[in-house]
Amino acid sequence: PVTVFWFRRDLRISDNHGLFKALTSGRPVLPVFVFDTDILNDLEDDDSCVSFILRQVQQLQDKFEADGSSFWIYHGKTLDAFKRLVAEYSVERVFINQDYEPYARKRDQEIFEYLGSMGIEMKAFKDQVIFHKNEILNGDGKPYTVFTPYSKRWLAKLSEKDWKPYPSEKYLGNLLKMAPLRKFHHVDIGFRRGSLEIPPQEITPEILTAYKDKRDFPAVDATSRLGVHLRFGTISIRQVTAAAVQYSSAFLNELIWRNFYMDILWHFPQVEKQSFKPAYDHIAWINSEKDFARWCEGTTGFPLVDAGMRQLNQTGFMHNRVRMVTASFLCKHLLIDWRWGEAFFAEKLLDYELASNNGGWQWAAGSGCDAAPYFRVFNPILQQEKFDPELVYVHRWVPEFGTDHYPKPMVDHRMARQRAIDTYRAGLVER
Ligand code: FAD
Repeated sequence: PVTVFWFRRDLRISDNHGLFKALTSGRPVLPVFVFDTDILNDLEDDDSCVSFILRQVQQLQDKFEADGSSFWIYHGKTLDAFKRLVAEYSVERVFINQDYEPYARKRDQEIFEYLGSMGIEMKAFKDQVIFHKNEILNGDGKPYTVFTPYSKRWLAKLSEKDWKPYPSEKYLGNLLKMAPLRKFHHVDIGFRRGSLEIPPQEITPEILTAYKDKRDFPAVDATSRLGVHLRFGTISIRQVTAAAVQYSSAFLNELIWRNFYMDILWHFPQVEKQSFKPAYDHIAWINSEKDFARWCEGTTGFPLVDAGMRQLNQTGFMHNRVRMVTASFLCKHLLIDWRWGEAFFAEKLLDYELASNNGGWQWAAGSGCDAAPYFRVFNPILQQEKFDPELVYVHRWVPEFGTDHYPKPMVDHRMARQRAIDTYRAGLVER
């Protein structure tokens, strides 16, 4: 009998909680990965994240094979994968790391039920976050919906054991010894190599110690660029947290935001489609397709907004400060439903993460759990003056800025600000 470890958003061998538990379960371990067509079918065929995942899976396979072990990989529907797996091997247990997204929860439940019907146990472990589910609750035993008290509770609960690594890599000798299995390449899953570059997975004391002072300036490369690695688990959150505790409380605070939004998505999965504050689904958005297209391509005539959108389109990344400004501009200045912007970011961002993207968008729209009041409208011109005073970031992404080729502002800021306040008020208050 074998224990199966099913890799998903945890594509690493070191400090992997579920993998560690599998490897110390007393049975040989068969590692498994599924290229899930229910997810892949919705993506462009040159999606750079898919290339990244494929590369990680290939590297894991090479590593396992070098040790005389193997890696069982399937391309298709997840349930079909498990039916095949159970037919081929005597599977006793299946171990996974917990995923908190609505789609993954539904999929995992389906697999759990199928395995249960076959007498096979499936167990999930906490790996993506420091705290999950009901670990951070308020005095009434309810989930927090405001960040500051959540973060206080989070910090009060945190101790060294929470970032202690699981030494999974030491037990790789317990993998099932077997002949190499099929290798997968882009063509095998119907994809082409994506062209966007994934930033290196490294975390240096230099970045962390300067983070607090520099993180808000988009012209400076002063953030960790770890988003995509945290998303696919190519770095461990415990390792990142340990570094944050040692070097930067400002950086730790951002990791807490990530954990907060994951908890919100877990407790309130409806936010995937609906405003956290239901009243915000009564705003009379203008939803102009033409305006939306100008925002997407970065020709709004507001330089910081345009620079951000072009950075996103060309690199798959946008600086956090500029994410806030572009998102606010779409919802408030153009009165376009936050879901449109959220979907565009989801398609373009390499570090796309449902929980944080949805949280960030609902924050900008004002509809989120801990958002600014609706009448506070970011001024994209003042934001540029404050955070890119020398126009370094703007010139980098909008080379024609300052020439006749650069478009005039597509809306007047004062008019748009008042219109946003009036429209929000009408939807929220005067109903
Ligand atoms: P750093 O500043 O180095 O932070 C380290 C890590 O902390 C990040 O990689 C991320 O995992 C986490 N983090 C940092 N800031 C936040 C935050 N405000 N909320 C939640 N987690 C945070 N982050 C995503 O990971 N995926 C998204 O799809 C995403 N969409 C966003 C959309 C909007 C509208 C906004 C305003 C923010 C969004 N963020 C998202 C949060 C933040 O902008 C990015 O995490 C950050 O810019 C990624 O760059 P970095 O890895 O260099 O982050």
